[in-house]
Amino acid sequence: MIKFKNVTKVYEDGTEAIKGINLTIPKGKLVALIGPSGCGKTTTMKMINKLISPSSGTILINGKDTSQTDEVELRRNIGYVIQRIGLLPHMTIEENISLIPRLKGWKKEQYEGRVDELLNLVGLEPKVYRKRYPLELSGGQQQRVGVIRALAAEPPIILMDEPFSALDPISREQLQDELKSIQNTIHKTIVFVTHDIDEALKIADEIAVMRDGEIEQIATPSELLSQPANEFVRAFIGEDRLNARQTQMQVIDMMEDNTNYVHYEESEYTLIPYDATVQEAARVLLETGKPYLMVIKDGKKTGSVTARGILRAVASEGKKEARSV
Ligand code: ADP
Ligand code: MG
Repeated sequence: MIKFKNVTKVYEDGTEAIKGINLTIPKGKLVALIGPSGCGKTTTMKMINKLISPSSGTILINGKDTSQTDEVELRRNIGYVIQRIGLLPHMTIEENISLIPRLKGWKKEQYEGRVDELLNLVGLEPKVYRKRYPLELSGGQQQRVGVIRALAAEPPIILMDEPFSALDPISREQLQDELKSIQNTIHKTIVFVTHDIDEALKIADEIAVMRDGEIEQIATPSELLSQPANEFVRAFIGEDRLNARQTQMQVIDMMEDNTNYVHYEESEYTLIPYDATVQEAARVLLETGKPYLMVIKDGKKTGSVTARGILRAVASEGKKEARSV
């Protein structure tokens, strides 16, 4: 757990970048810091691994005051990913990923296995990529390496500062999905800076909305959408998105009108909560390749949805939009 207590930062030129924030980042959660450019996201993040020191207040990691912690030791236990990853150009992909494990004294067999495991995790065939140099990879591939490099030594905390913002929209979506699925297995404490509300809504467990050195609201994605704390947050989320969410169709609206679902084999379906949206349902169907989604309400199976049902729903959502234009 990371805790900020009345933390401020005034830069030497007098800029009051952080004006007294209190923030708790629970263990194992992904918390997004979001807000307009210059609101203090990067400053907040860099105070966690002591790249910047606070002017007043305390930052605690697992109850321990970071001002009392050795910064080299601290940084070895905190993964860090930035927008332009800065893989070391003269080192191979394997050497880049294994850098921190080697610094920590891991044995060769140990870190070699880890490199392969991580490359596989983001869909880069180890045989092909291990010995390549960063410039022999696309931007999206380099960023994947940046992400797994931060995971390599299994740090309990990972800081990510707009890690995907230099990527094209498709690579960006893919990496968001990959990060989400990785996080579902590793459950690290992740602080993720972004200025993209869609990205935050998609990947975060909790979102802290910042403005001008202060935190305006901390909430889960659905709370943020349903109860924005003030006009600033509302405007930042965007009126369109708030409205869209309210009218979005849920899987329960798309359930097939049949009773056969009780006989489906477990291998034929994936469970989905009744209030998942069409888009979420479509994503799950694509990811799993299974023919059905089993809709769960109050912990019980209530019906099923087929890929065709989803397509039909997506088509009718499209029509609704077309009509409203
Ligand atoms: P964000 O990451 O949200 O864009 P930053 O944390 O980088 O915001 O910056 C917050 C504020 O502090 C901005 O006004 C920025 O200009 C200022 N700032 C950032 N770094 C420095 C610095 N080294 N010296 C002086 N001012 C700085
Ligand atoms: Mg920044």
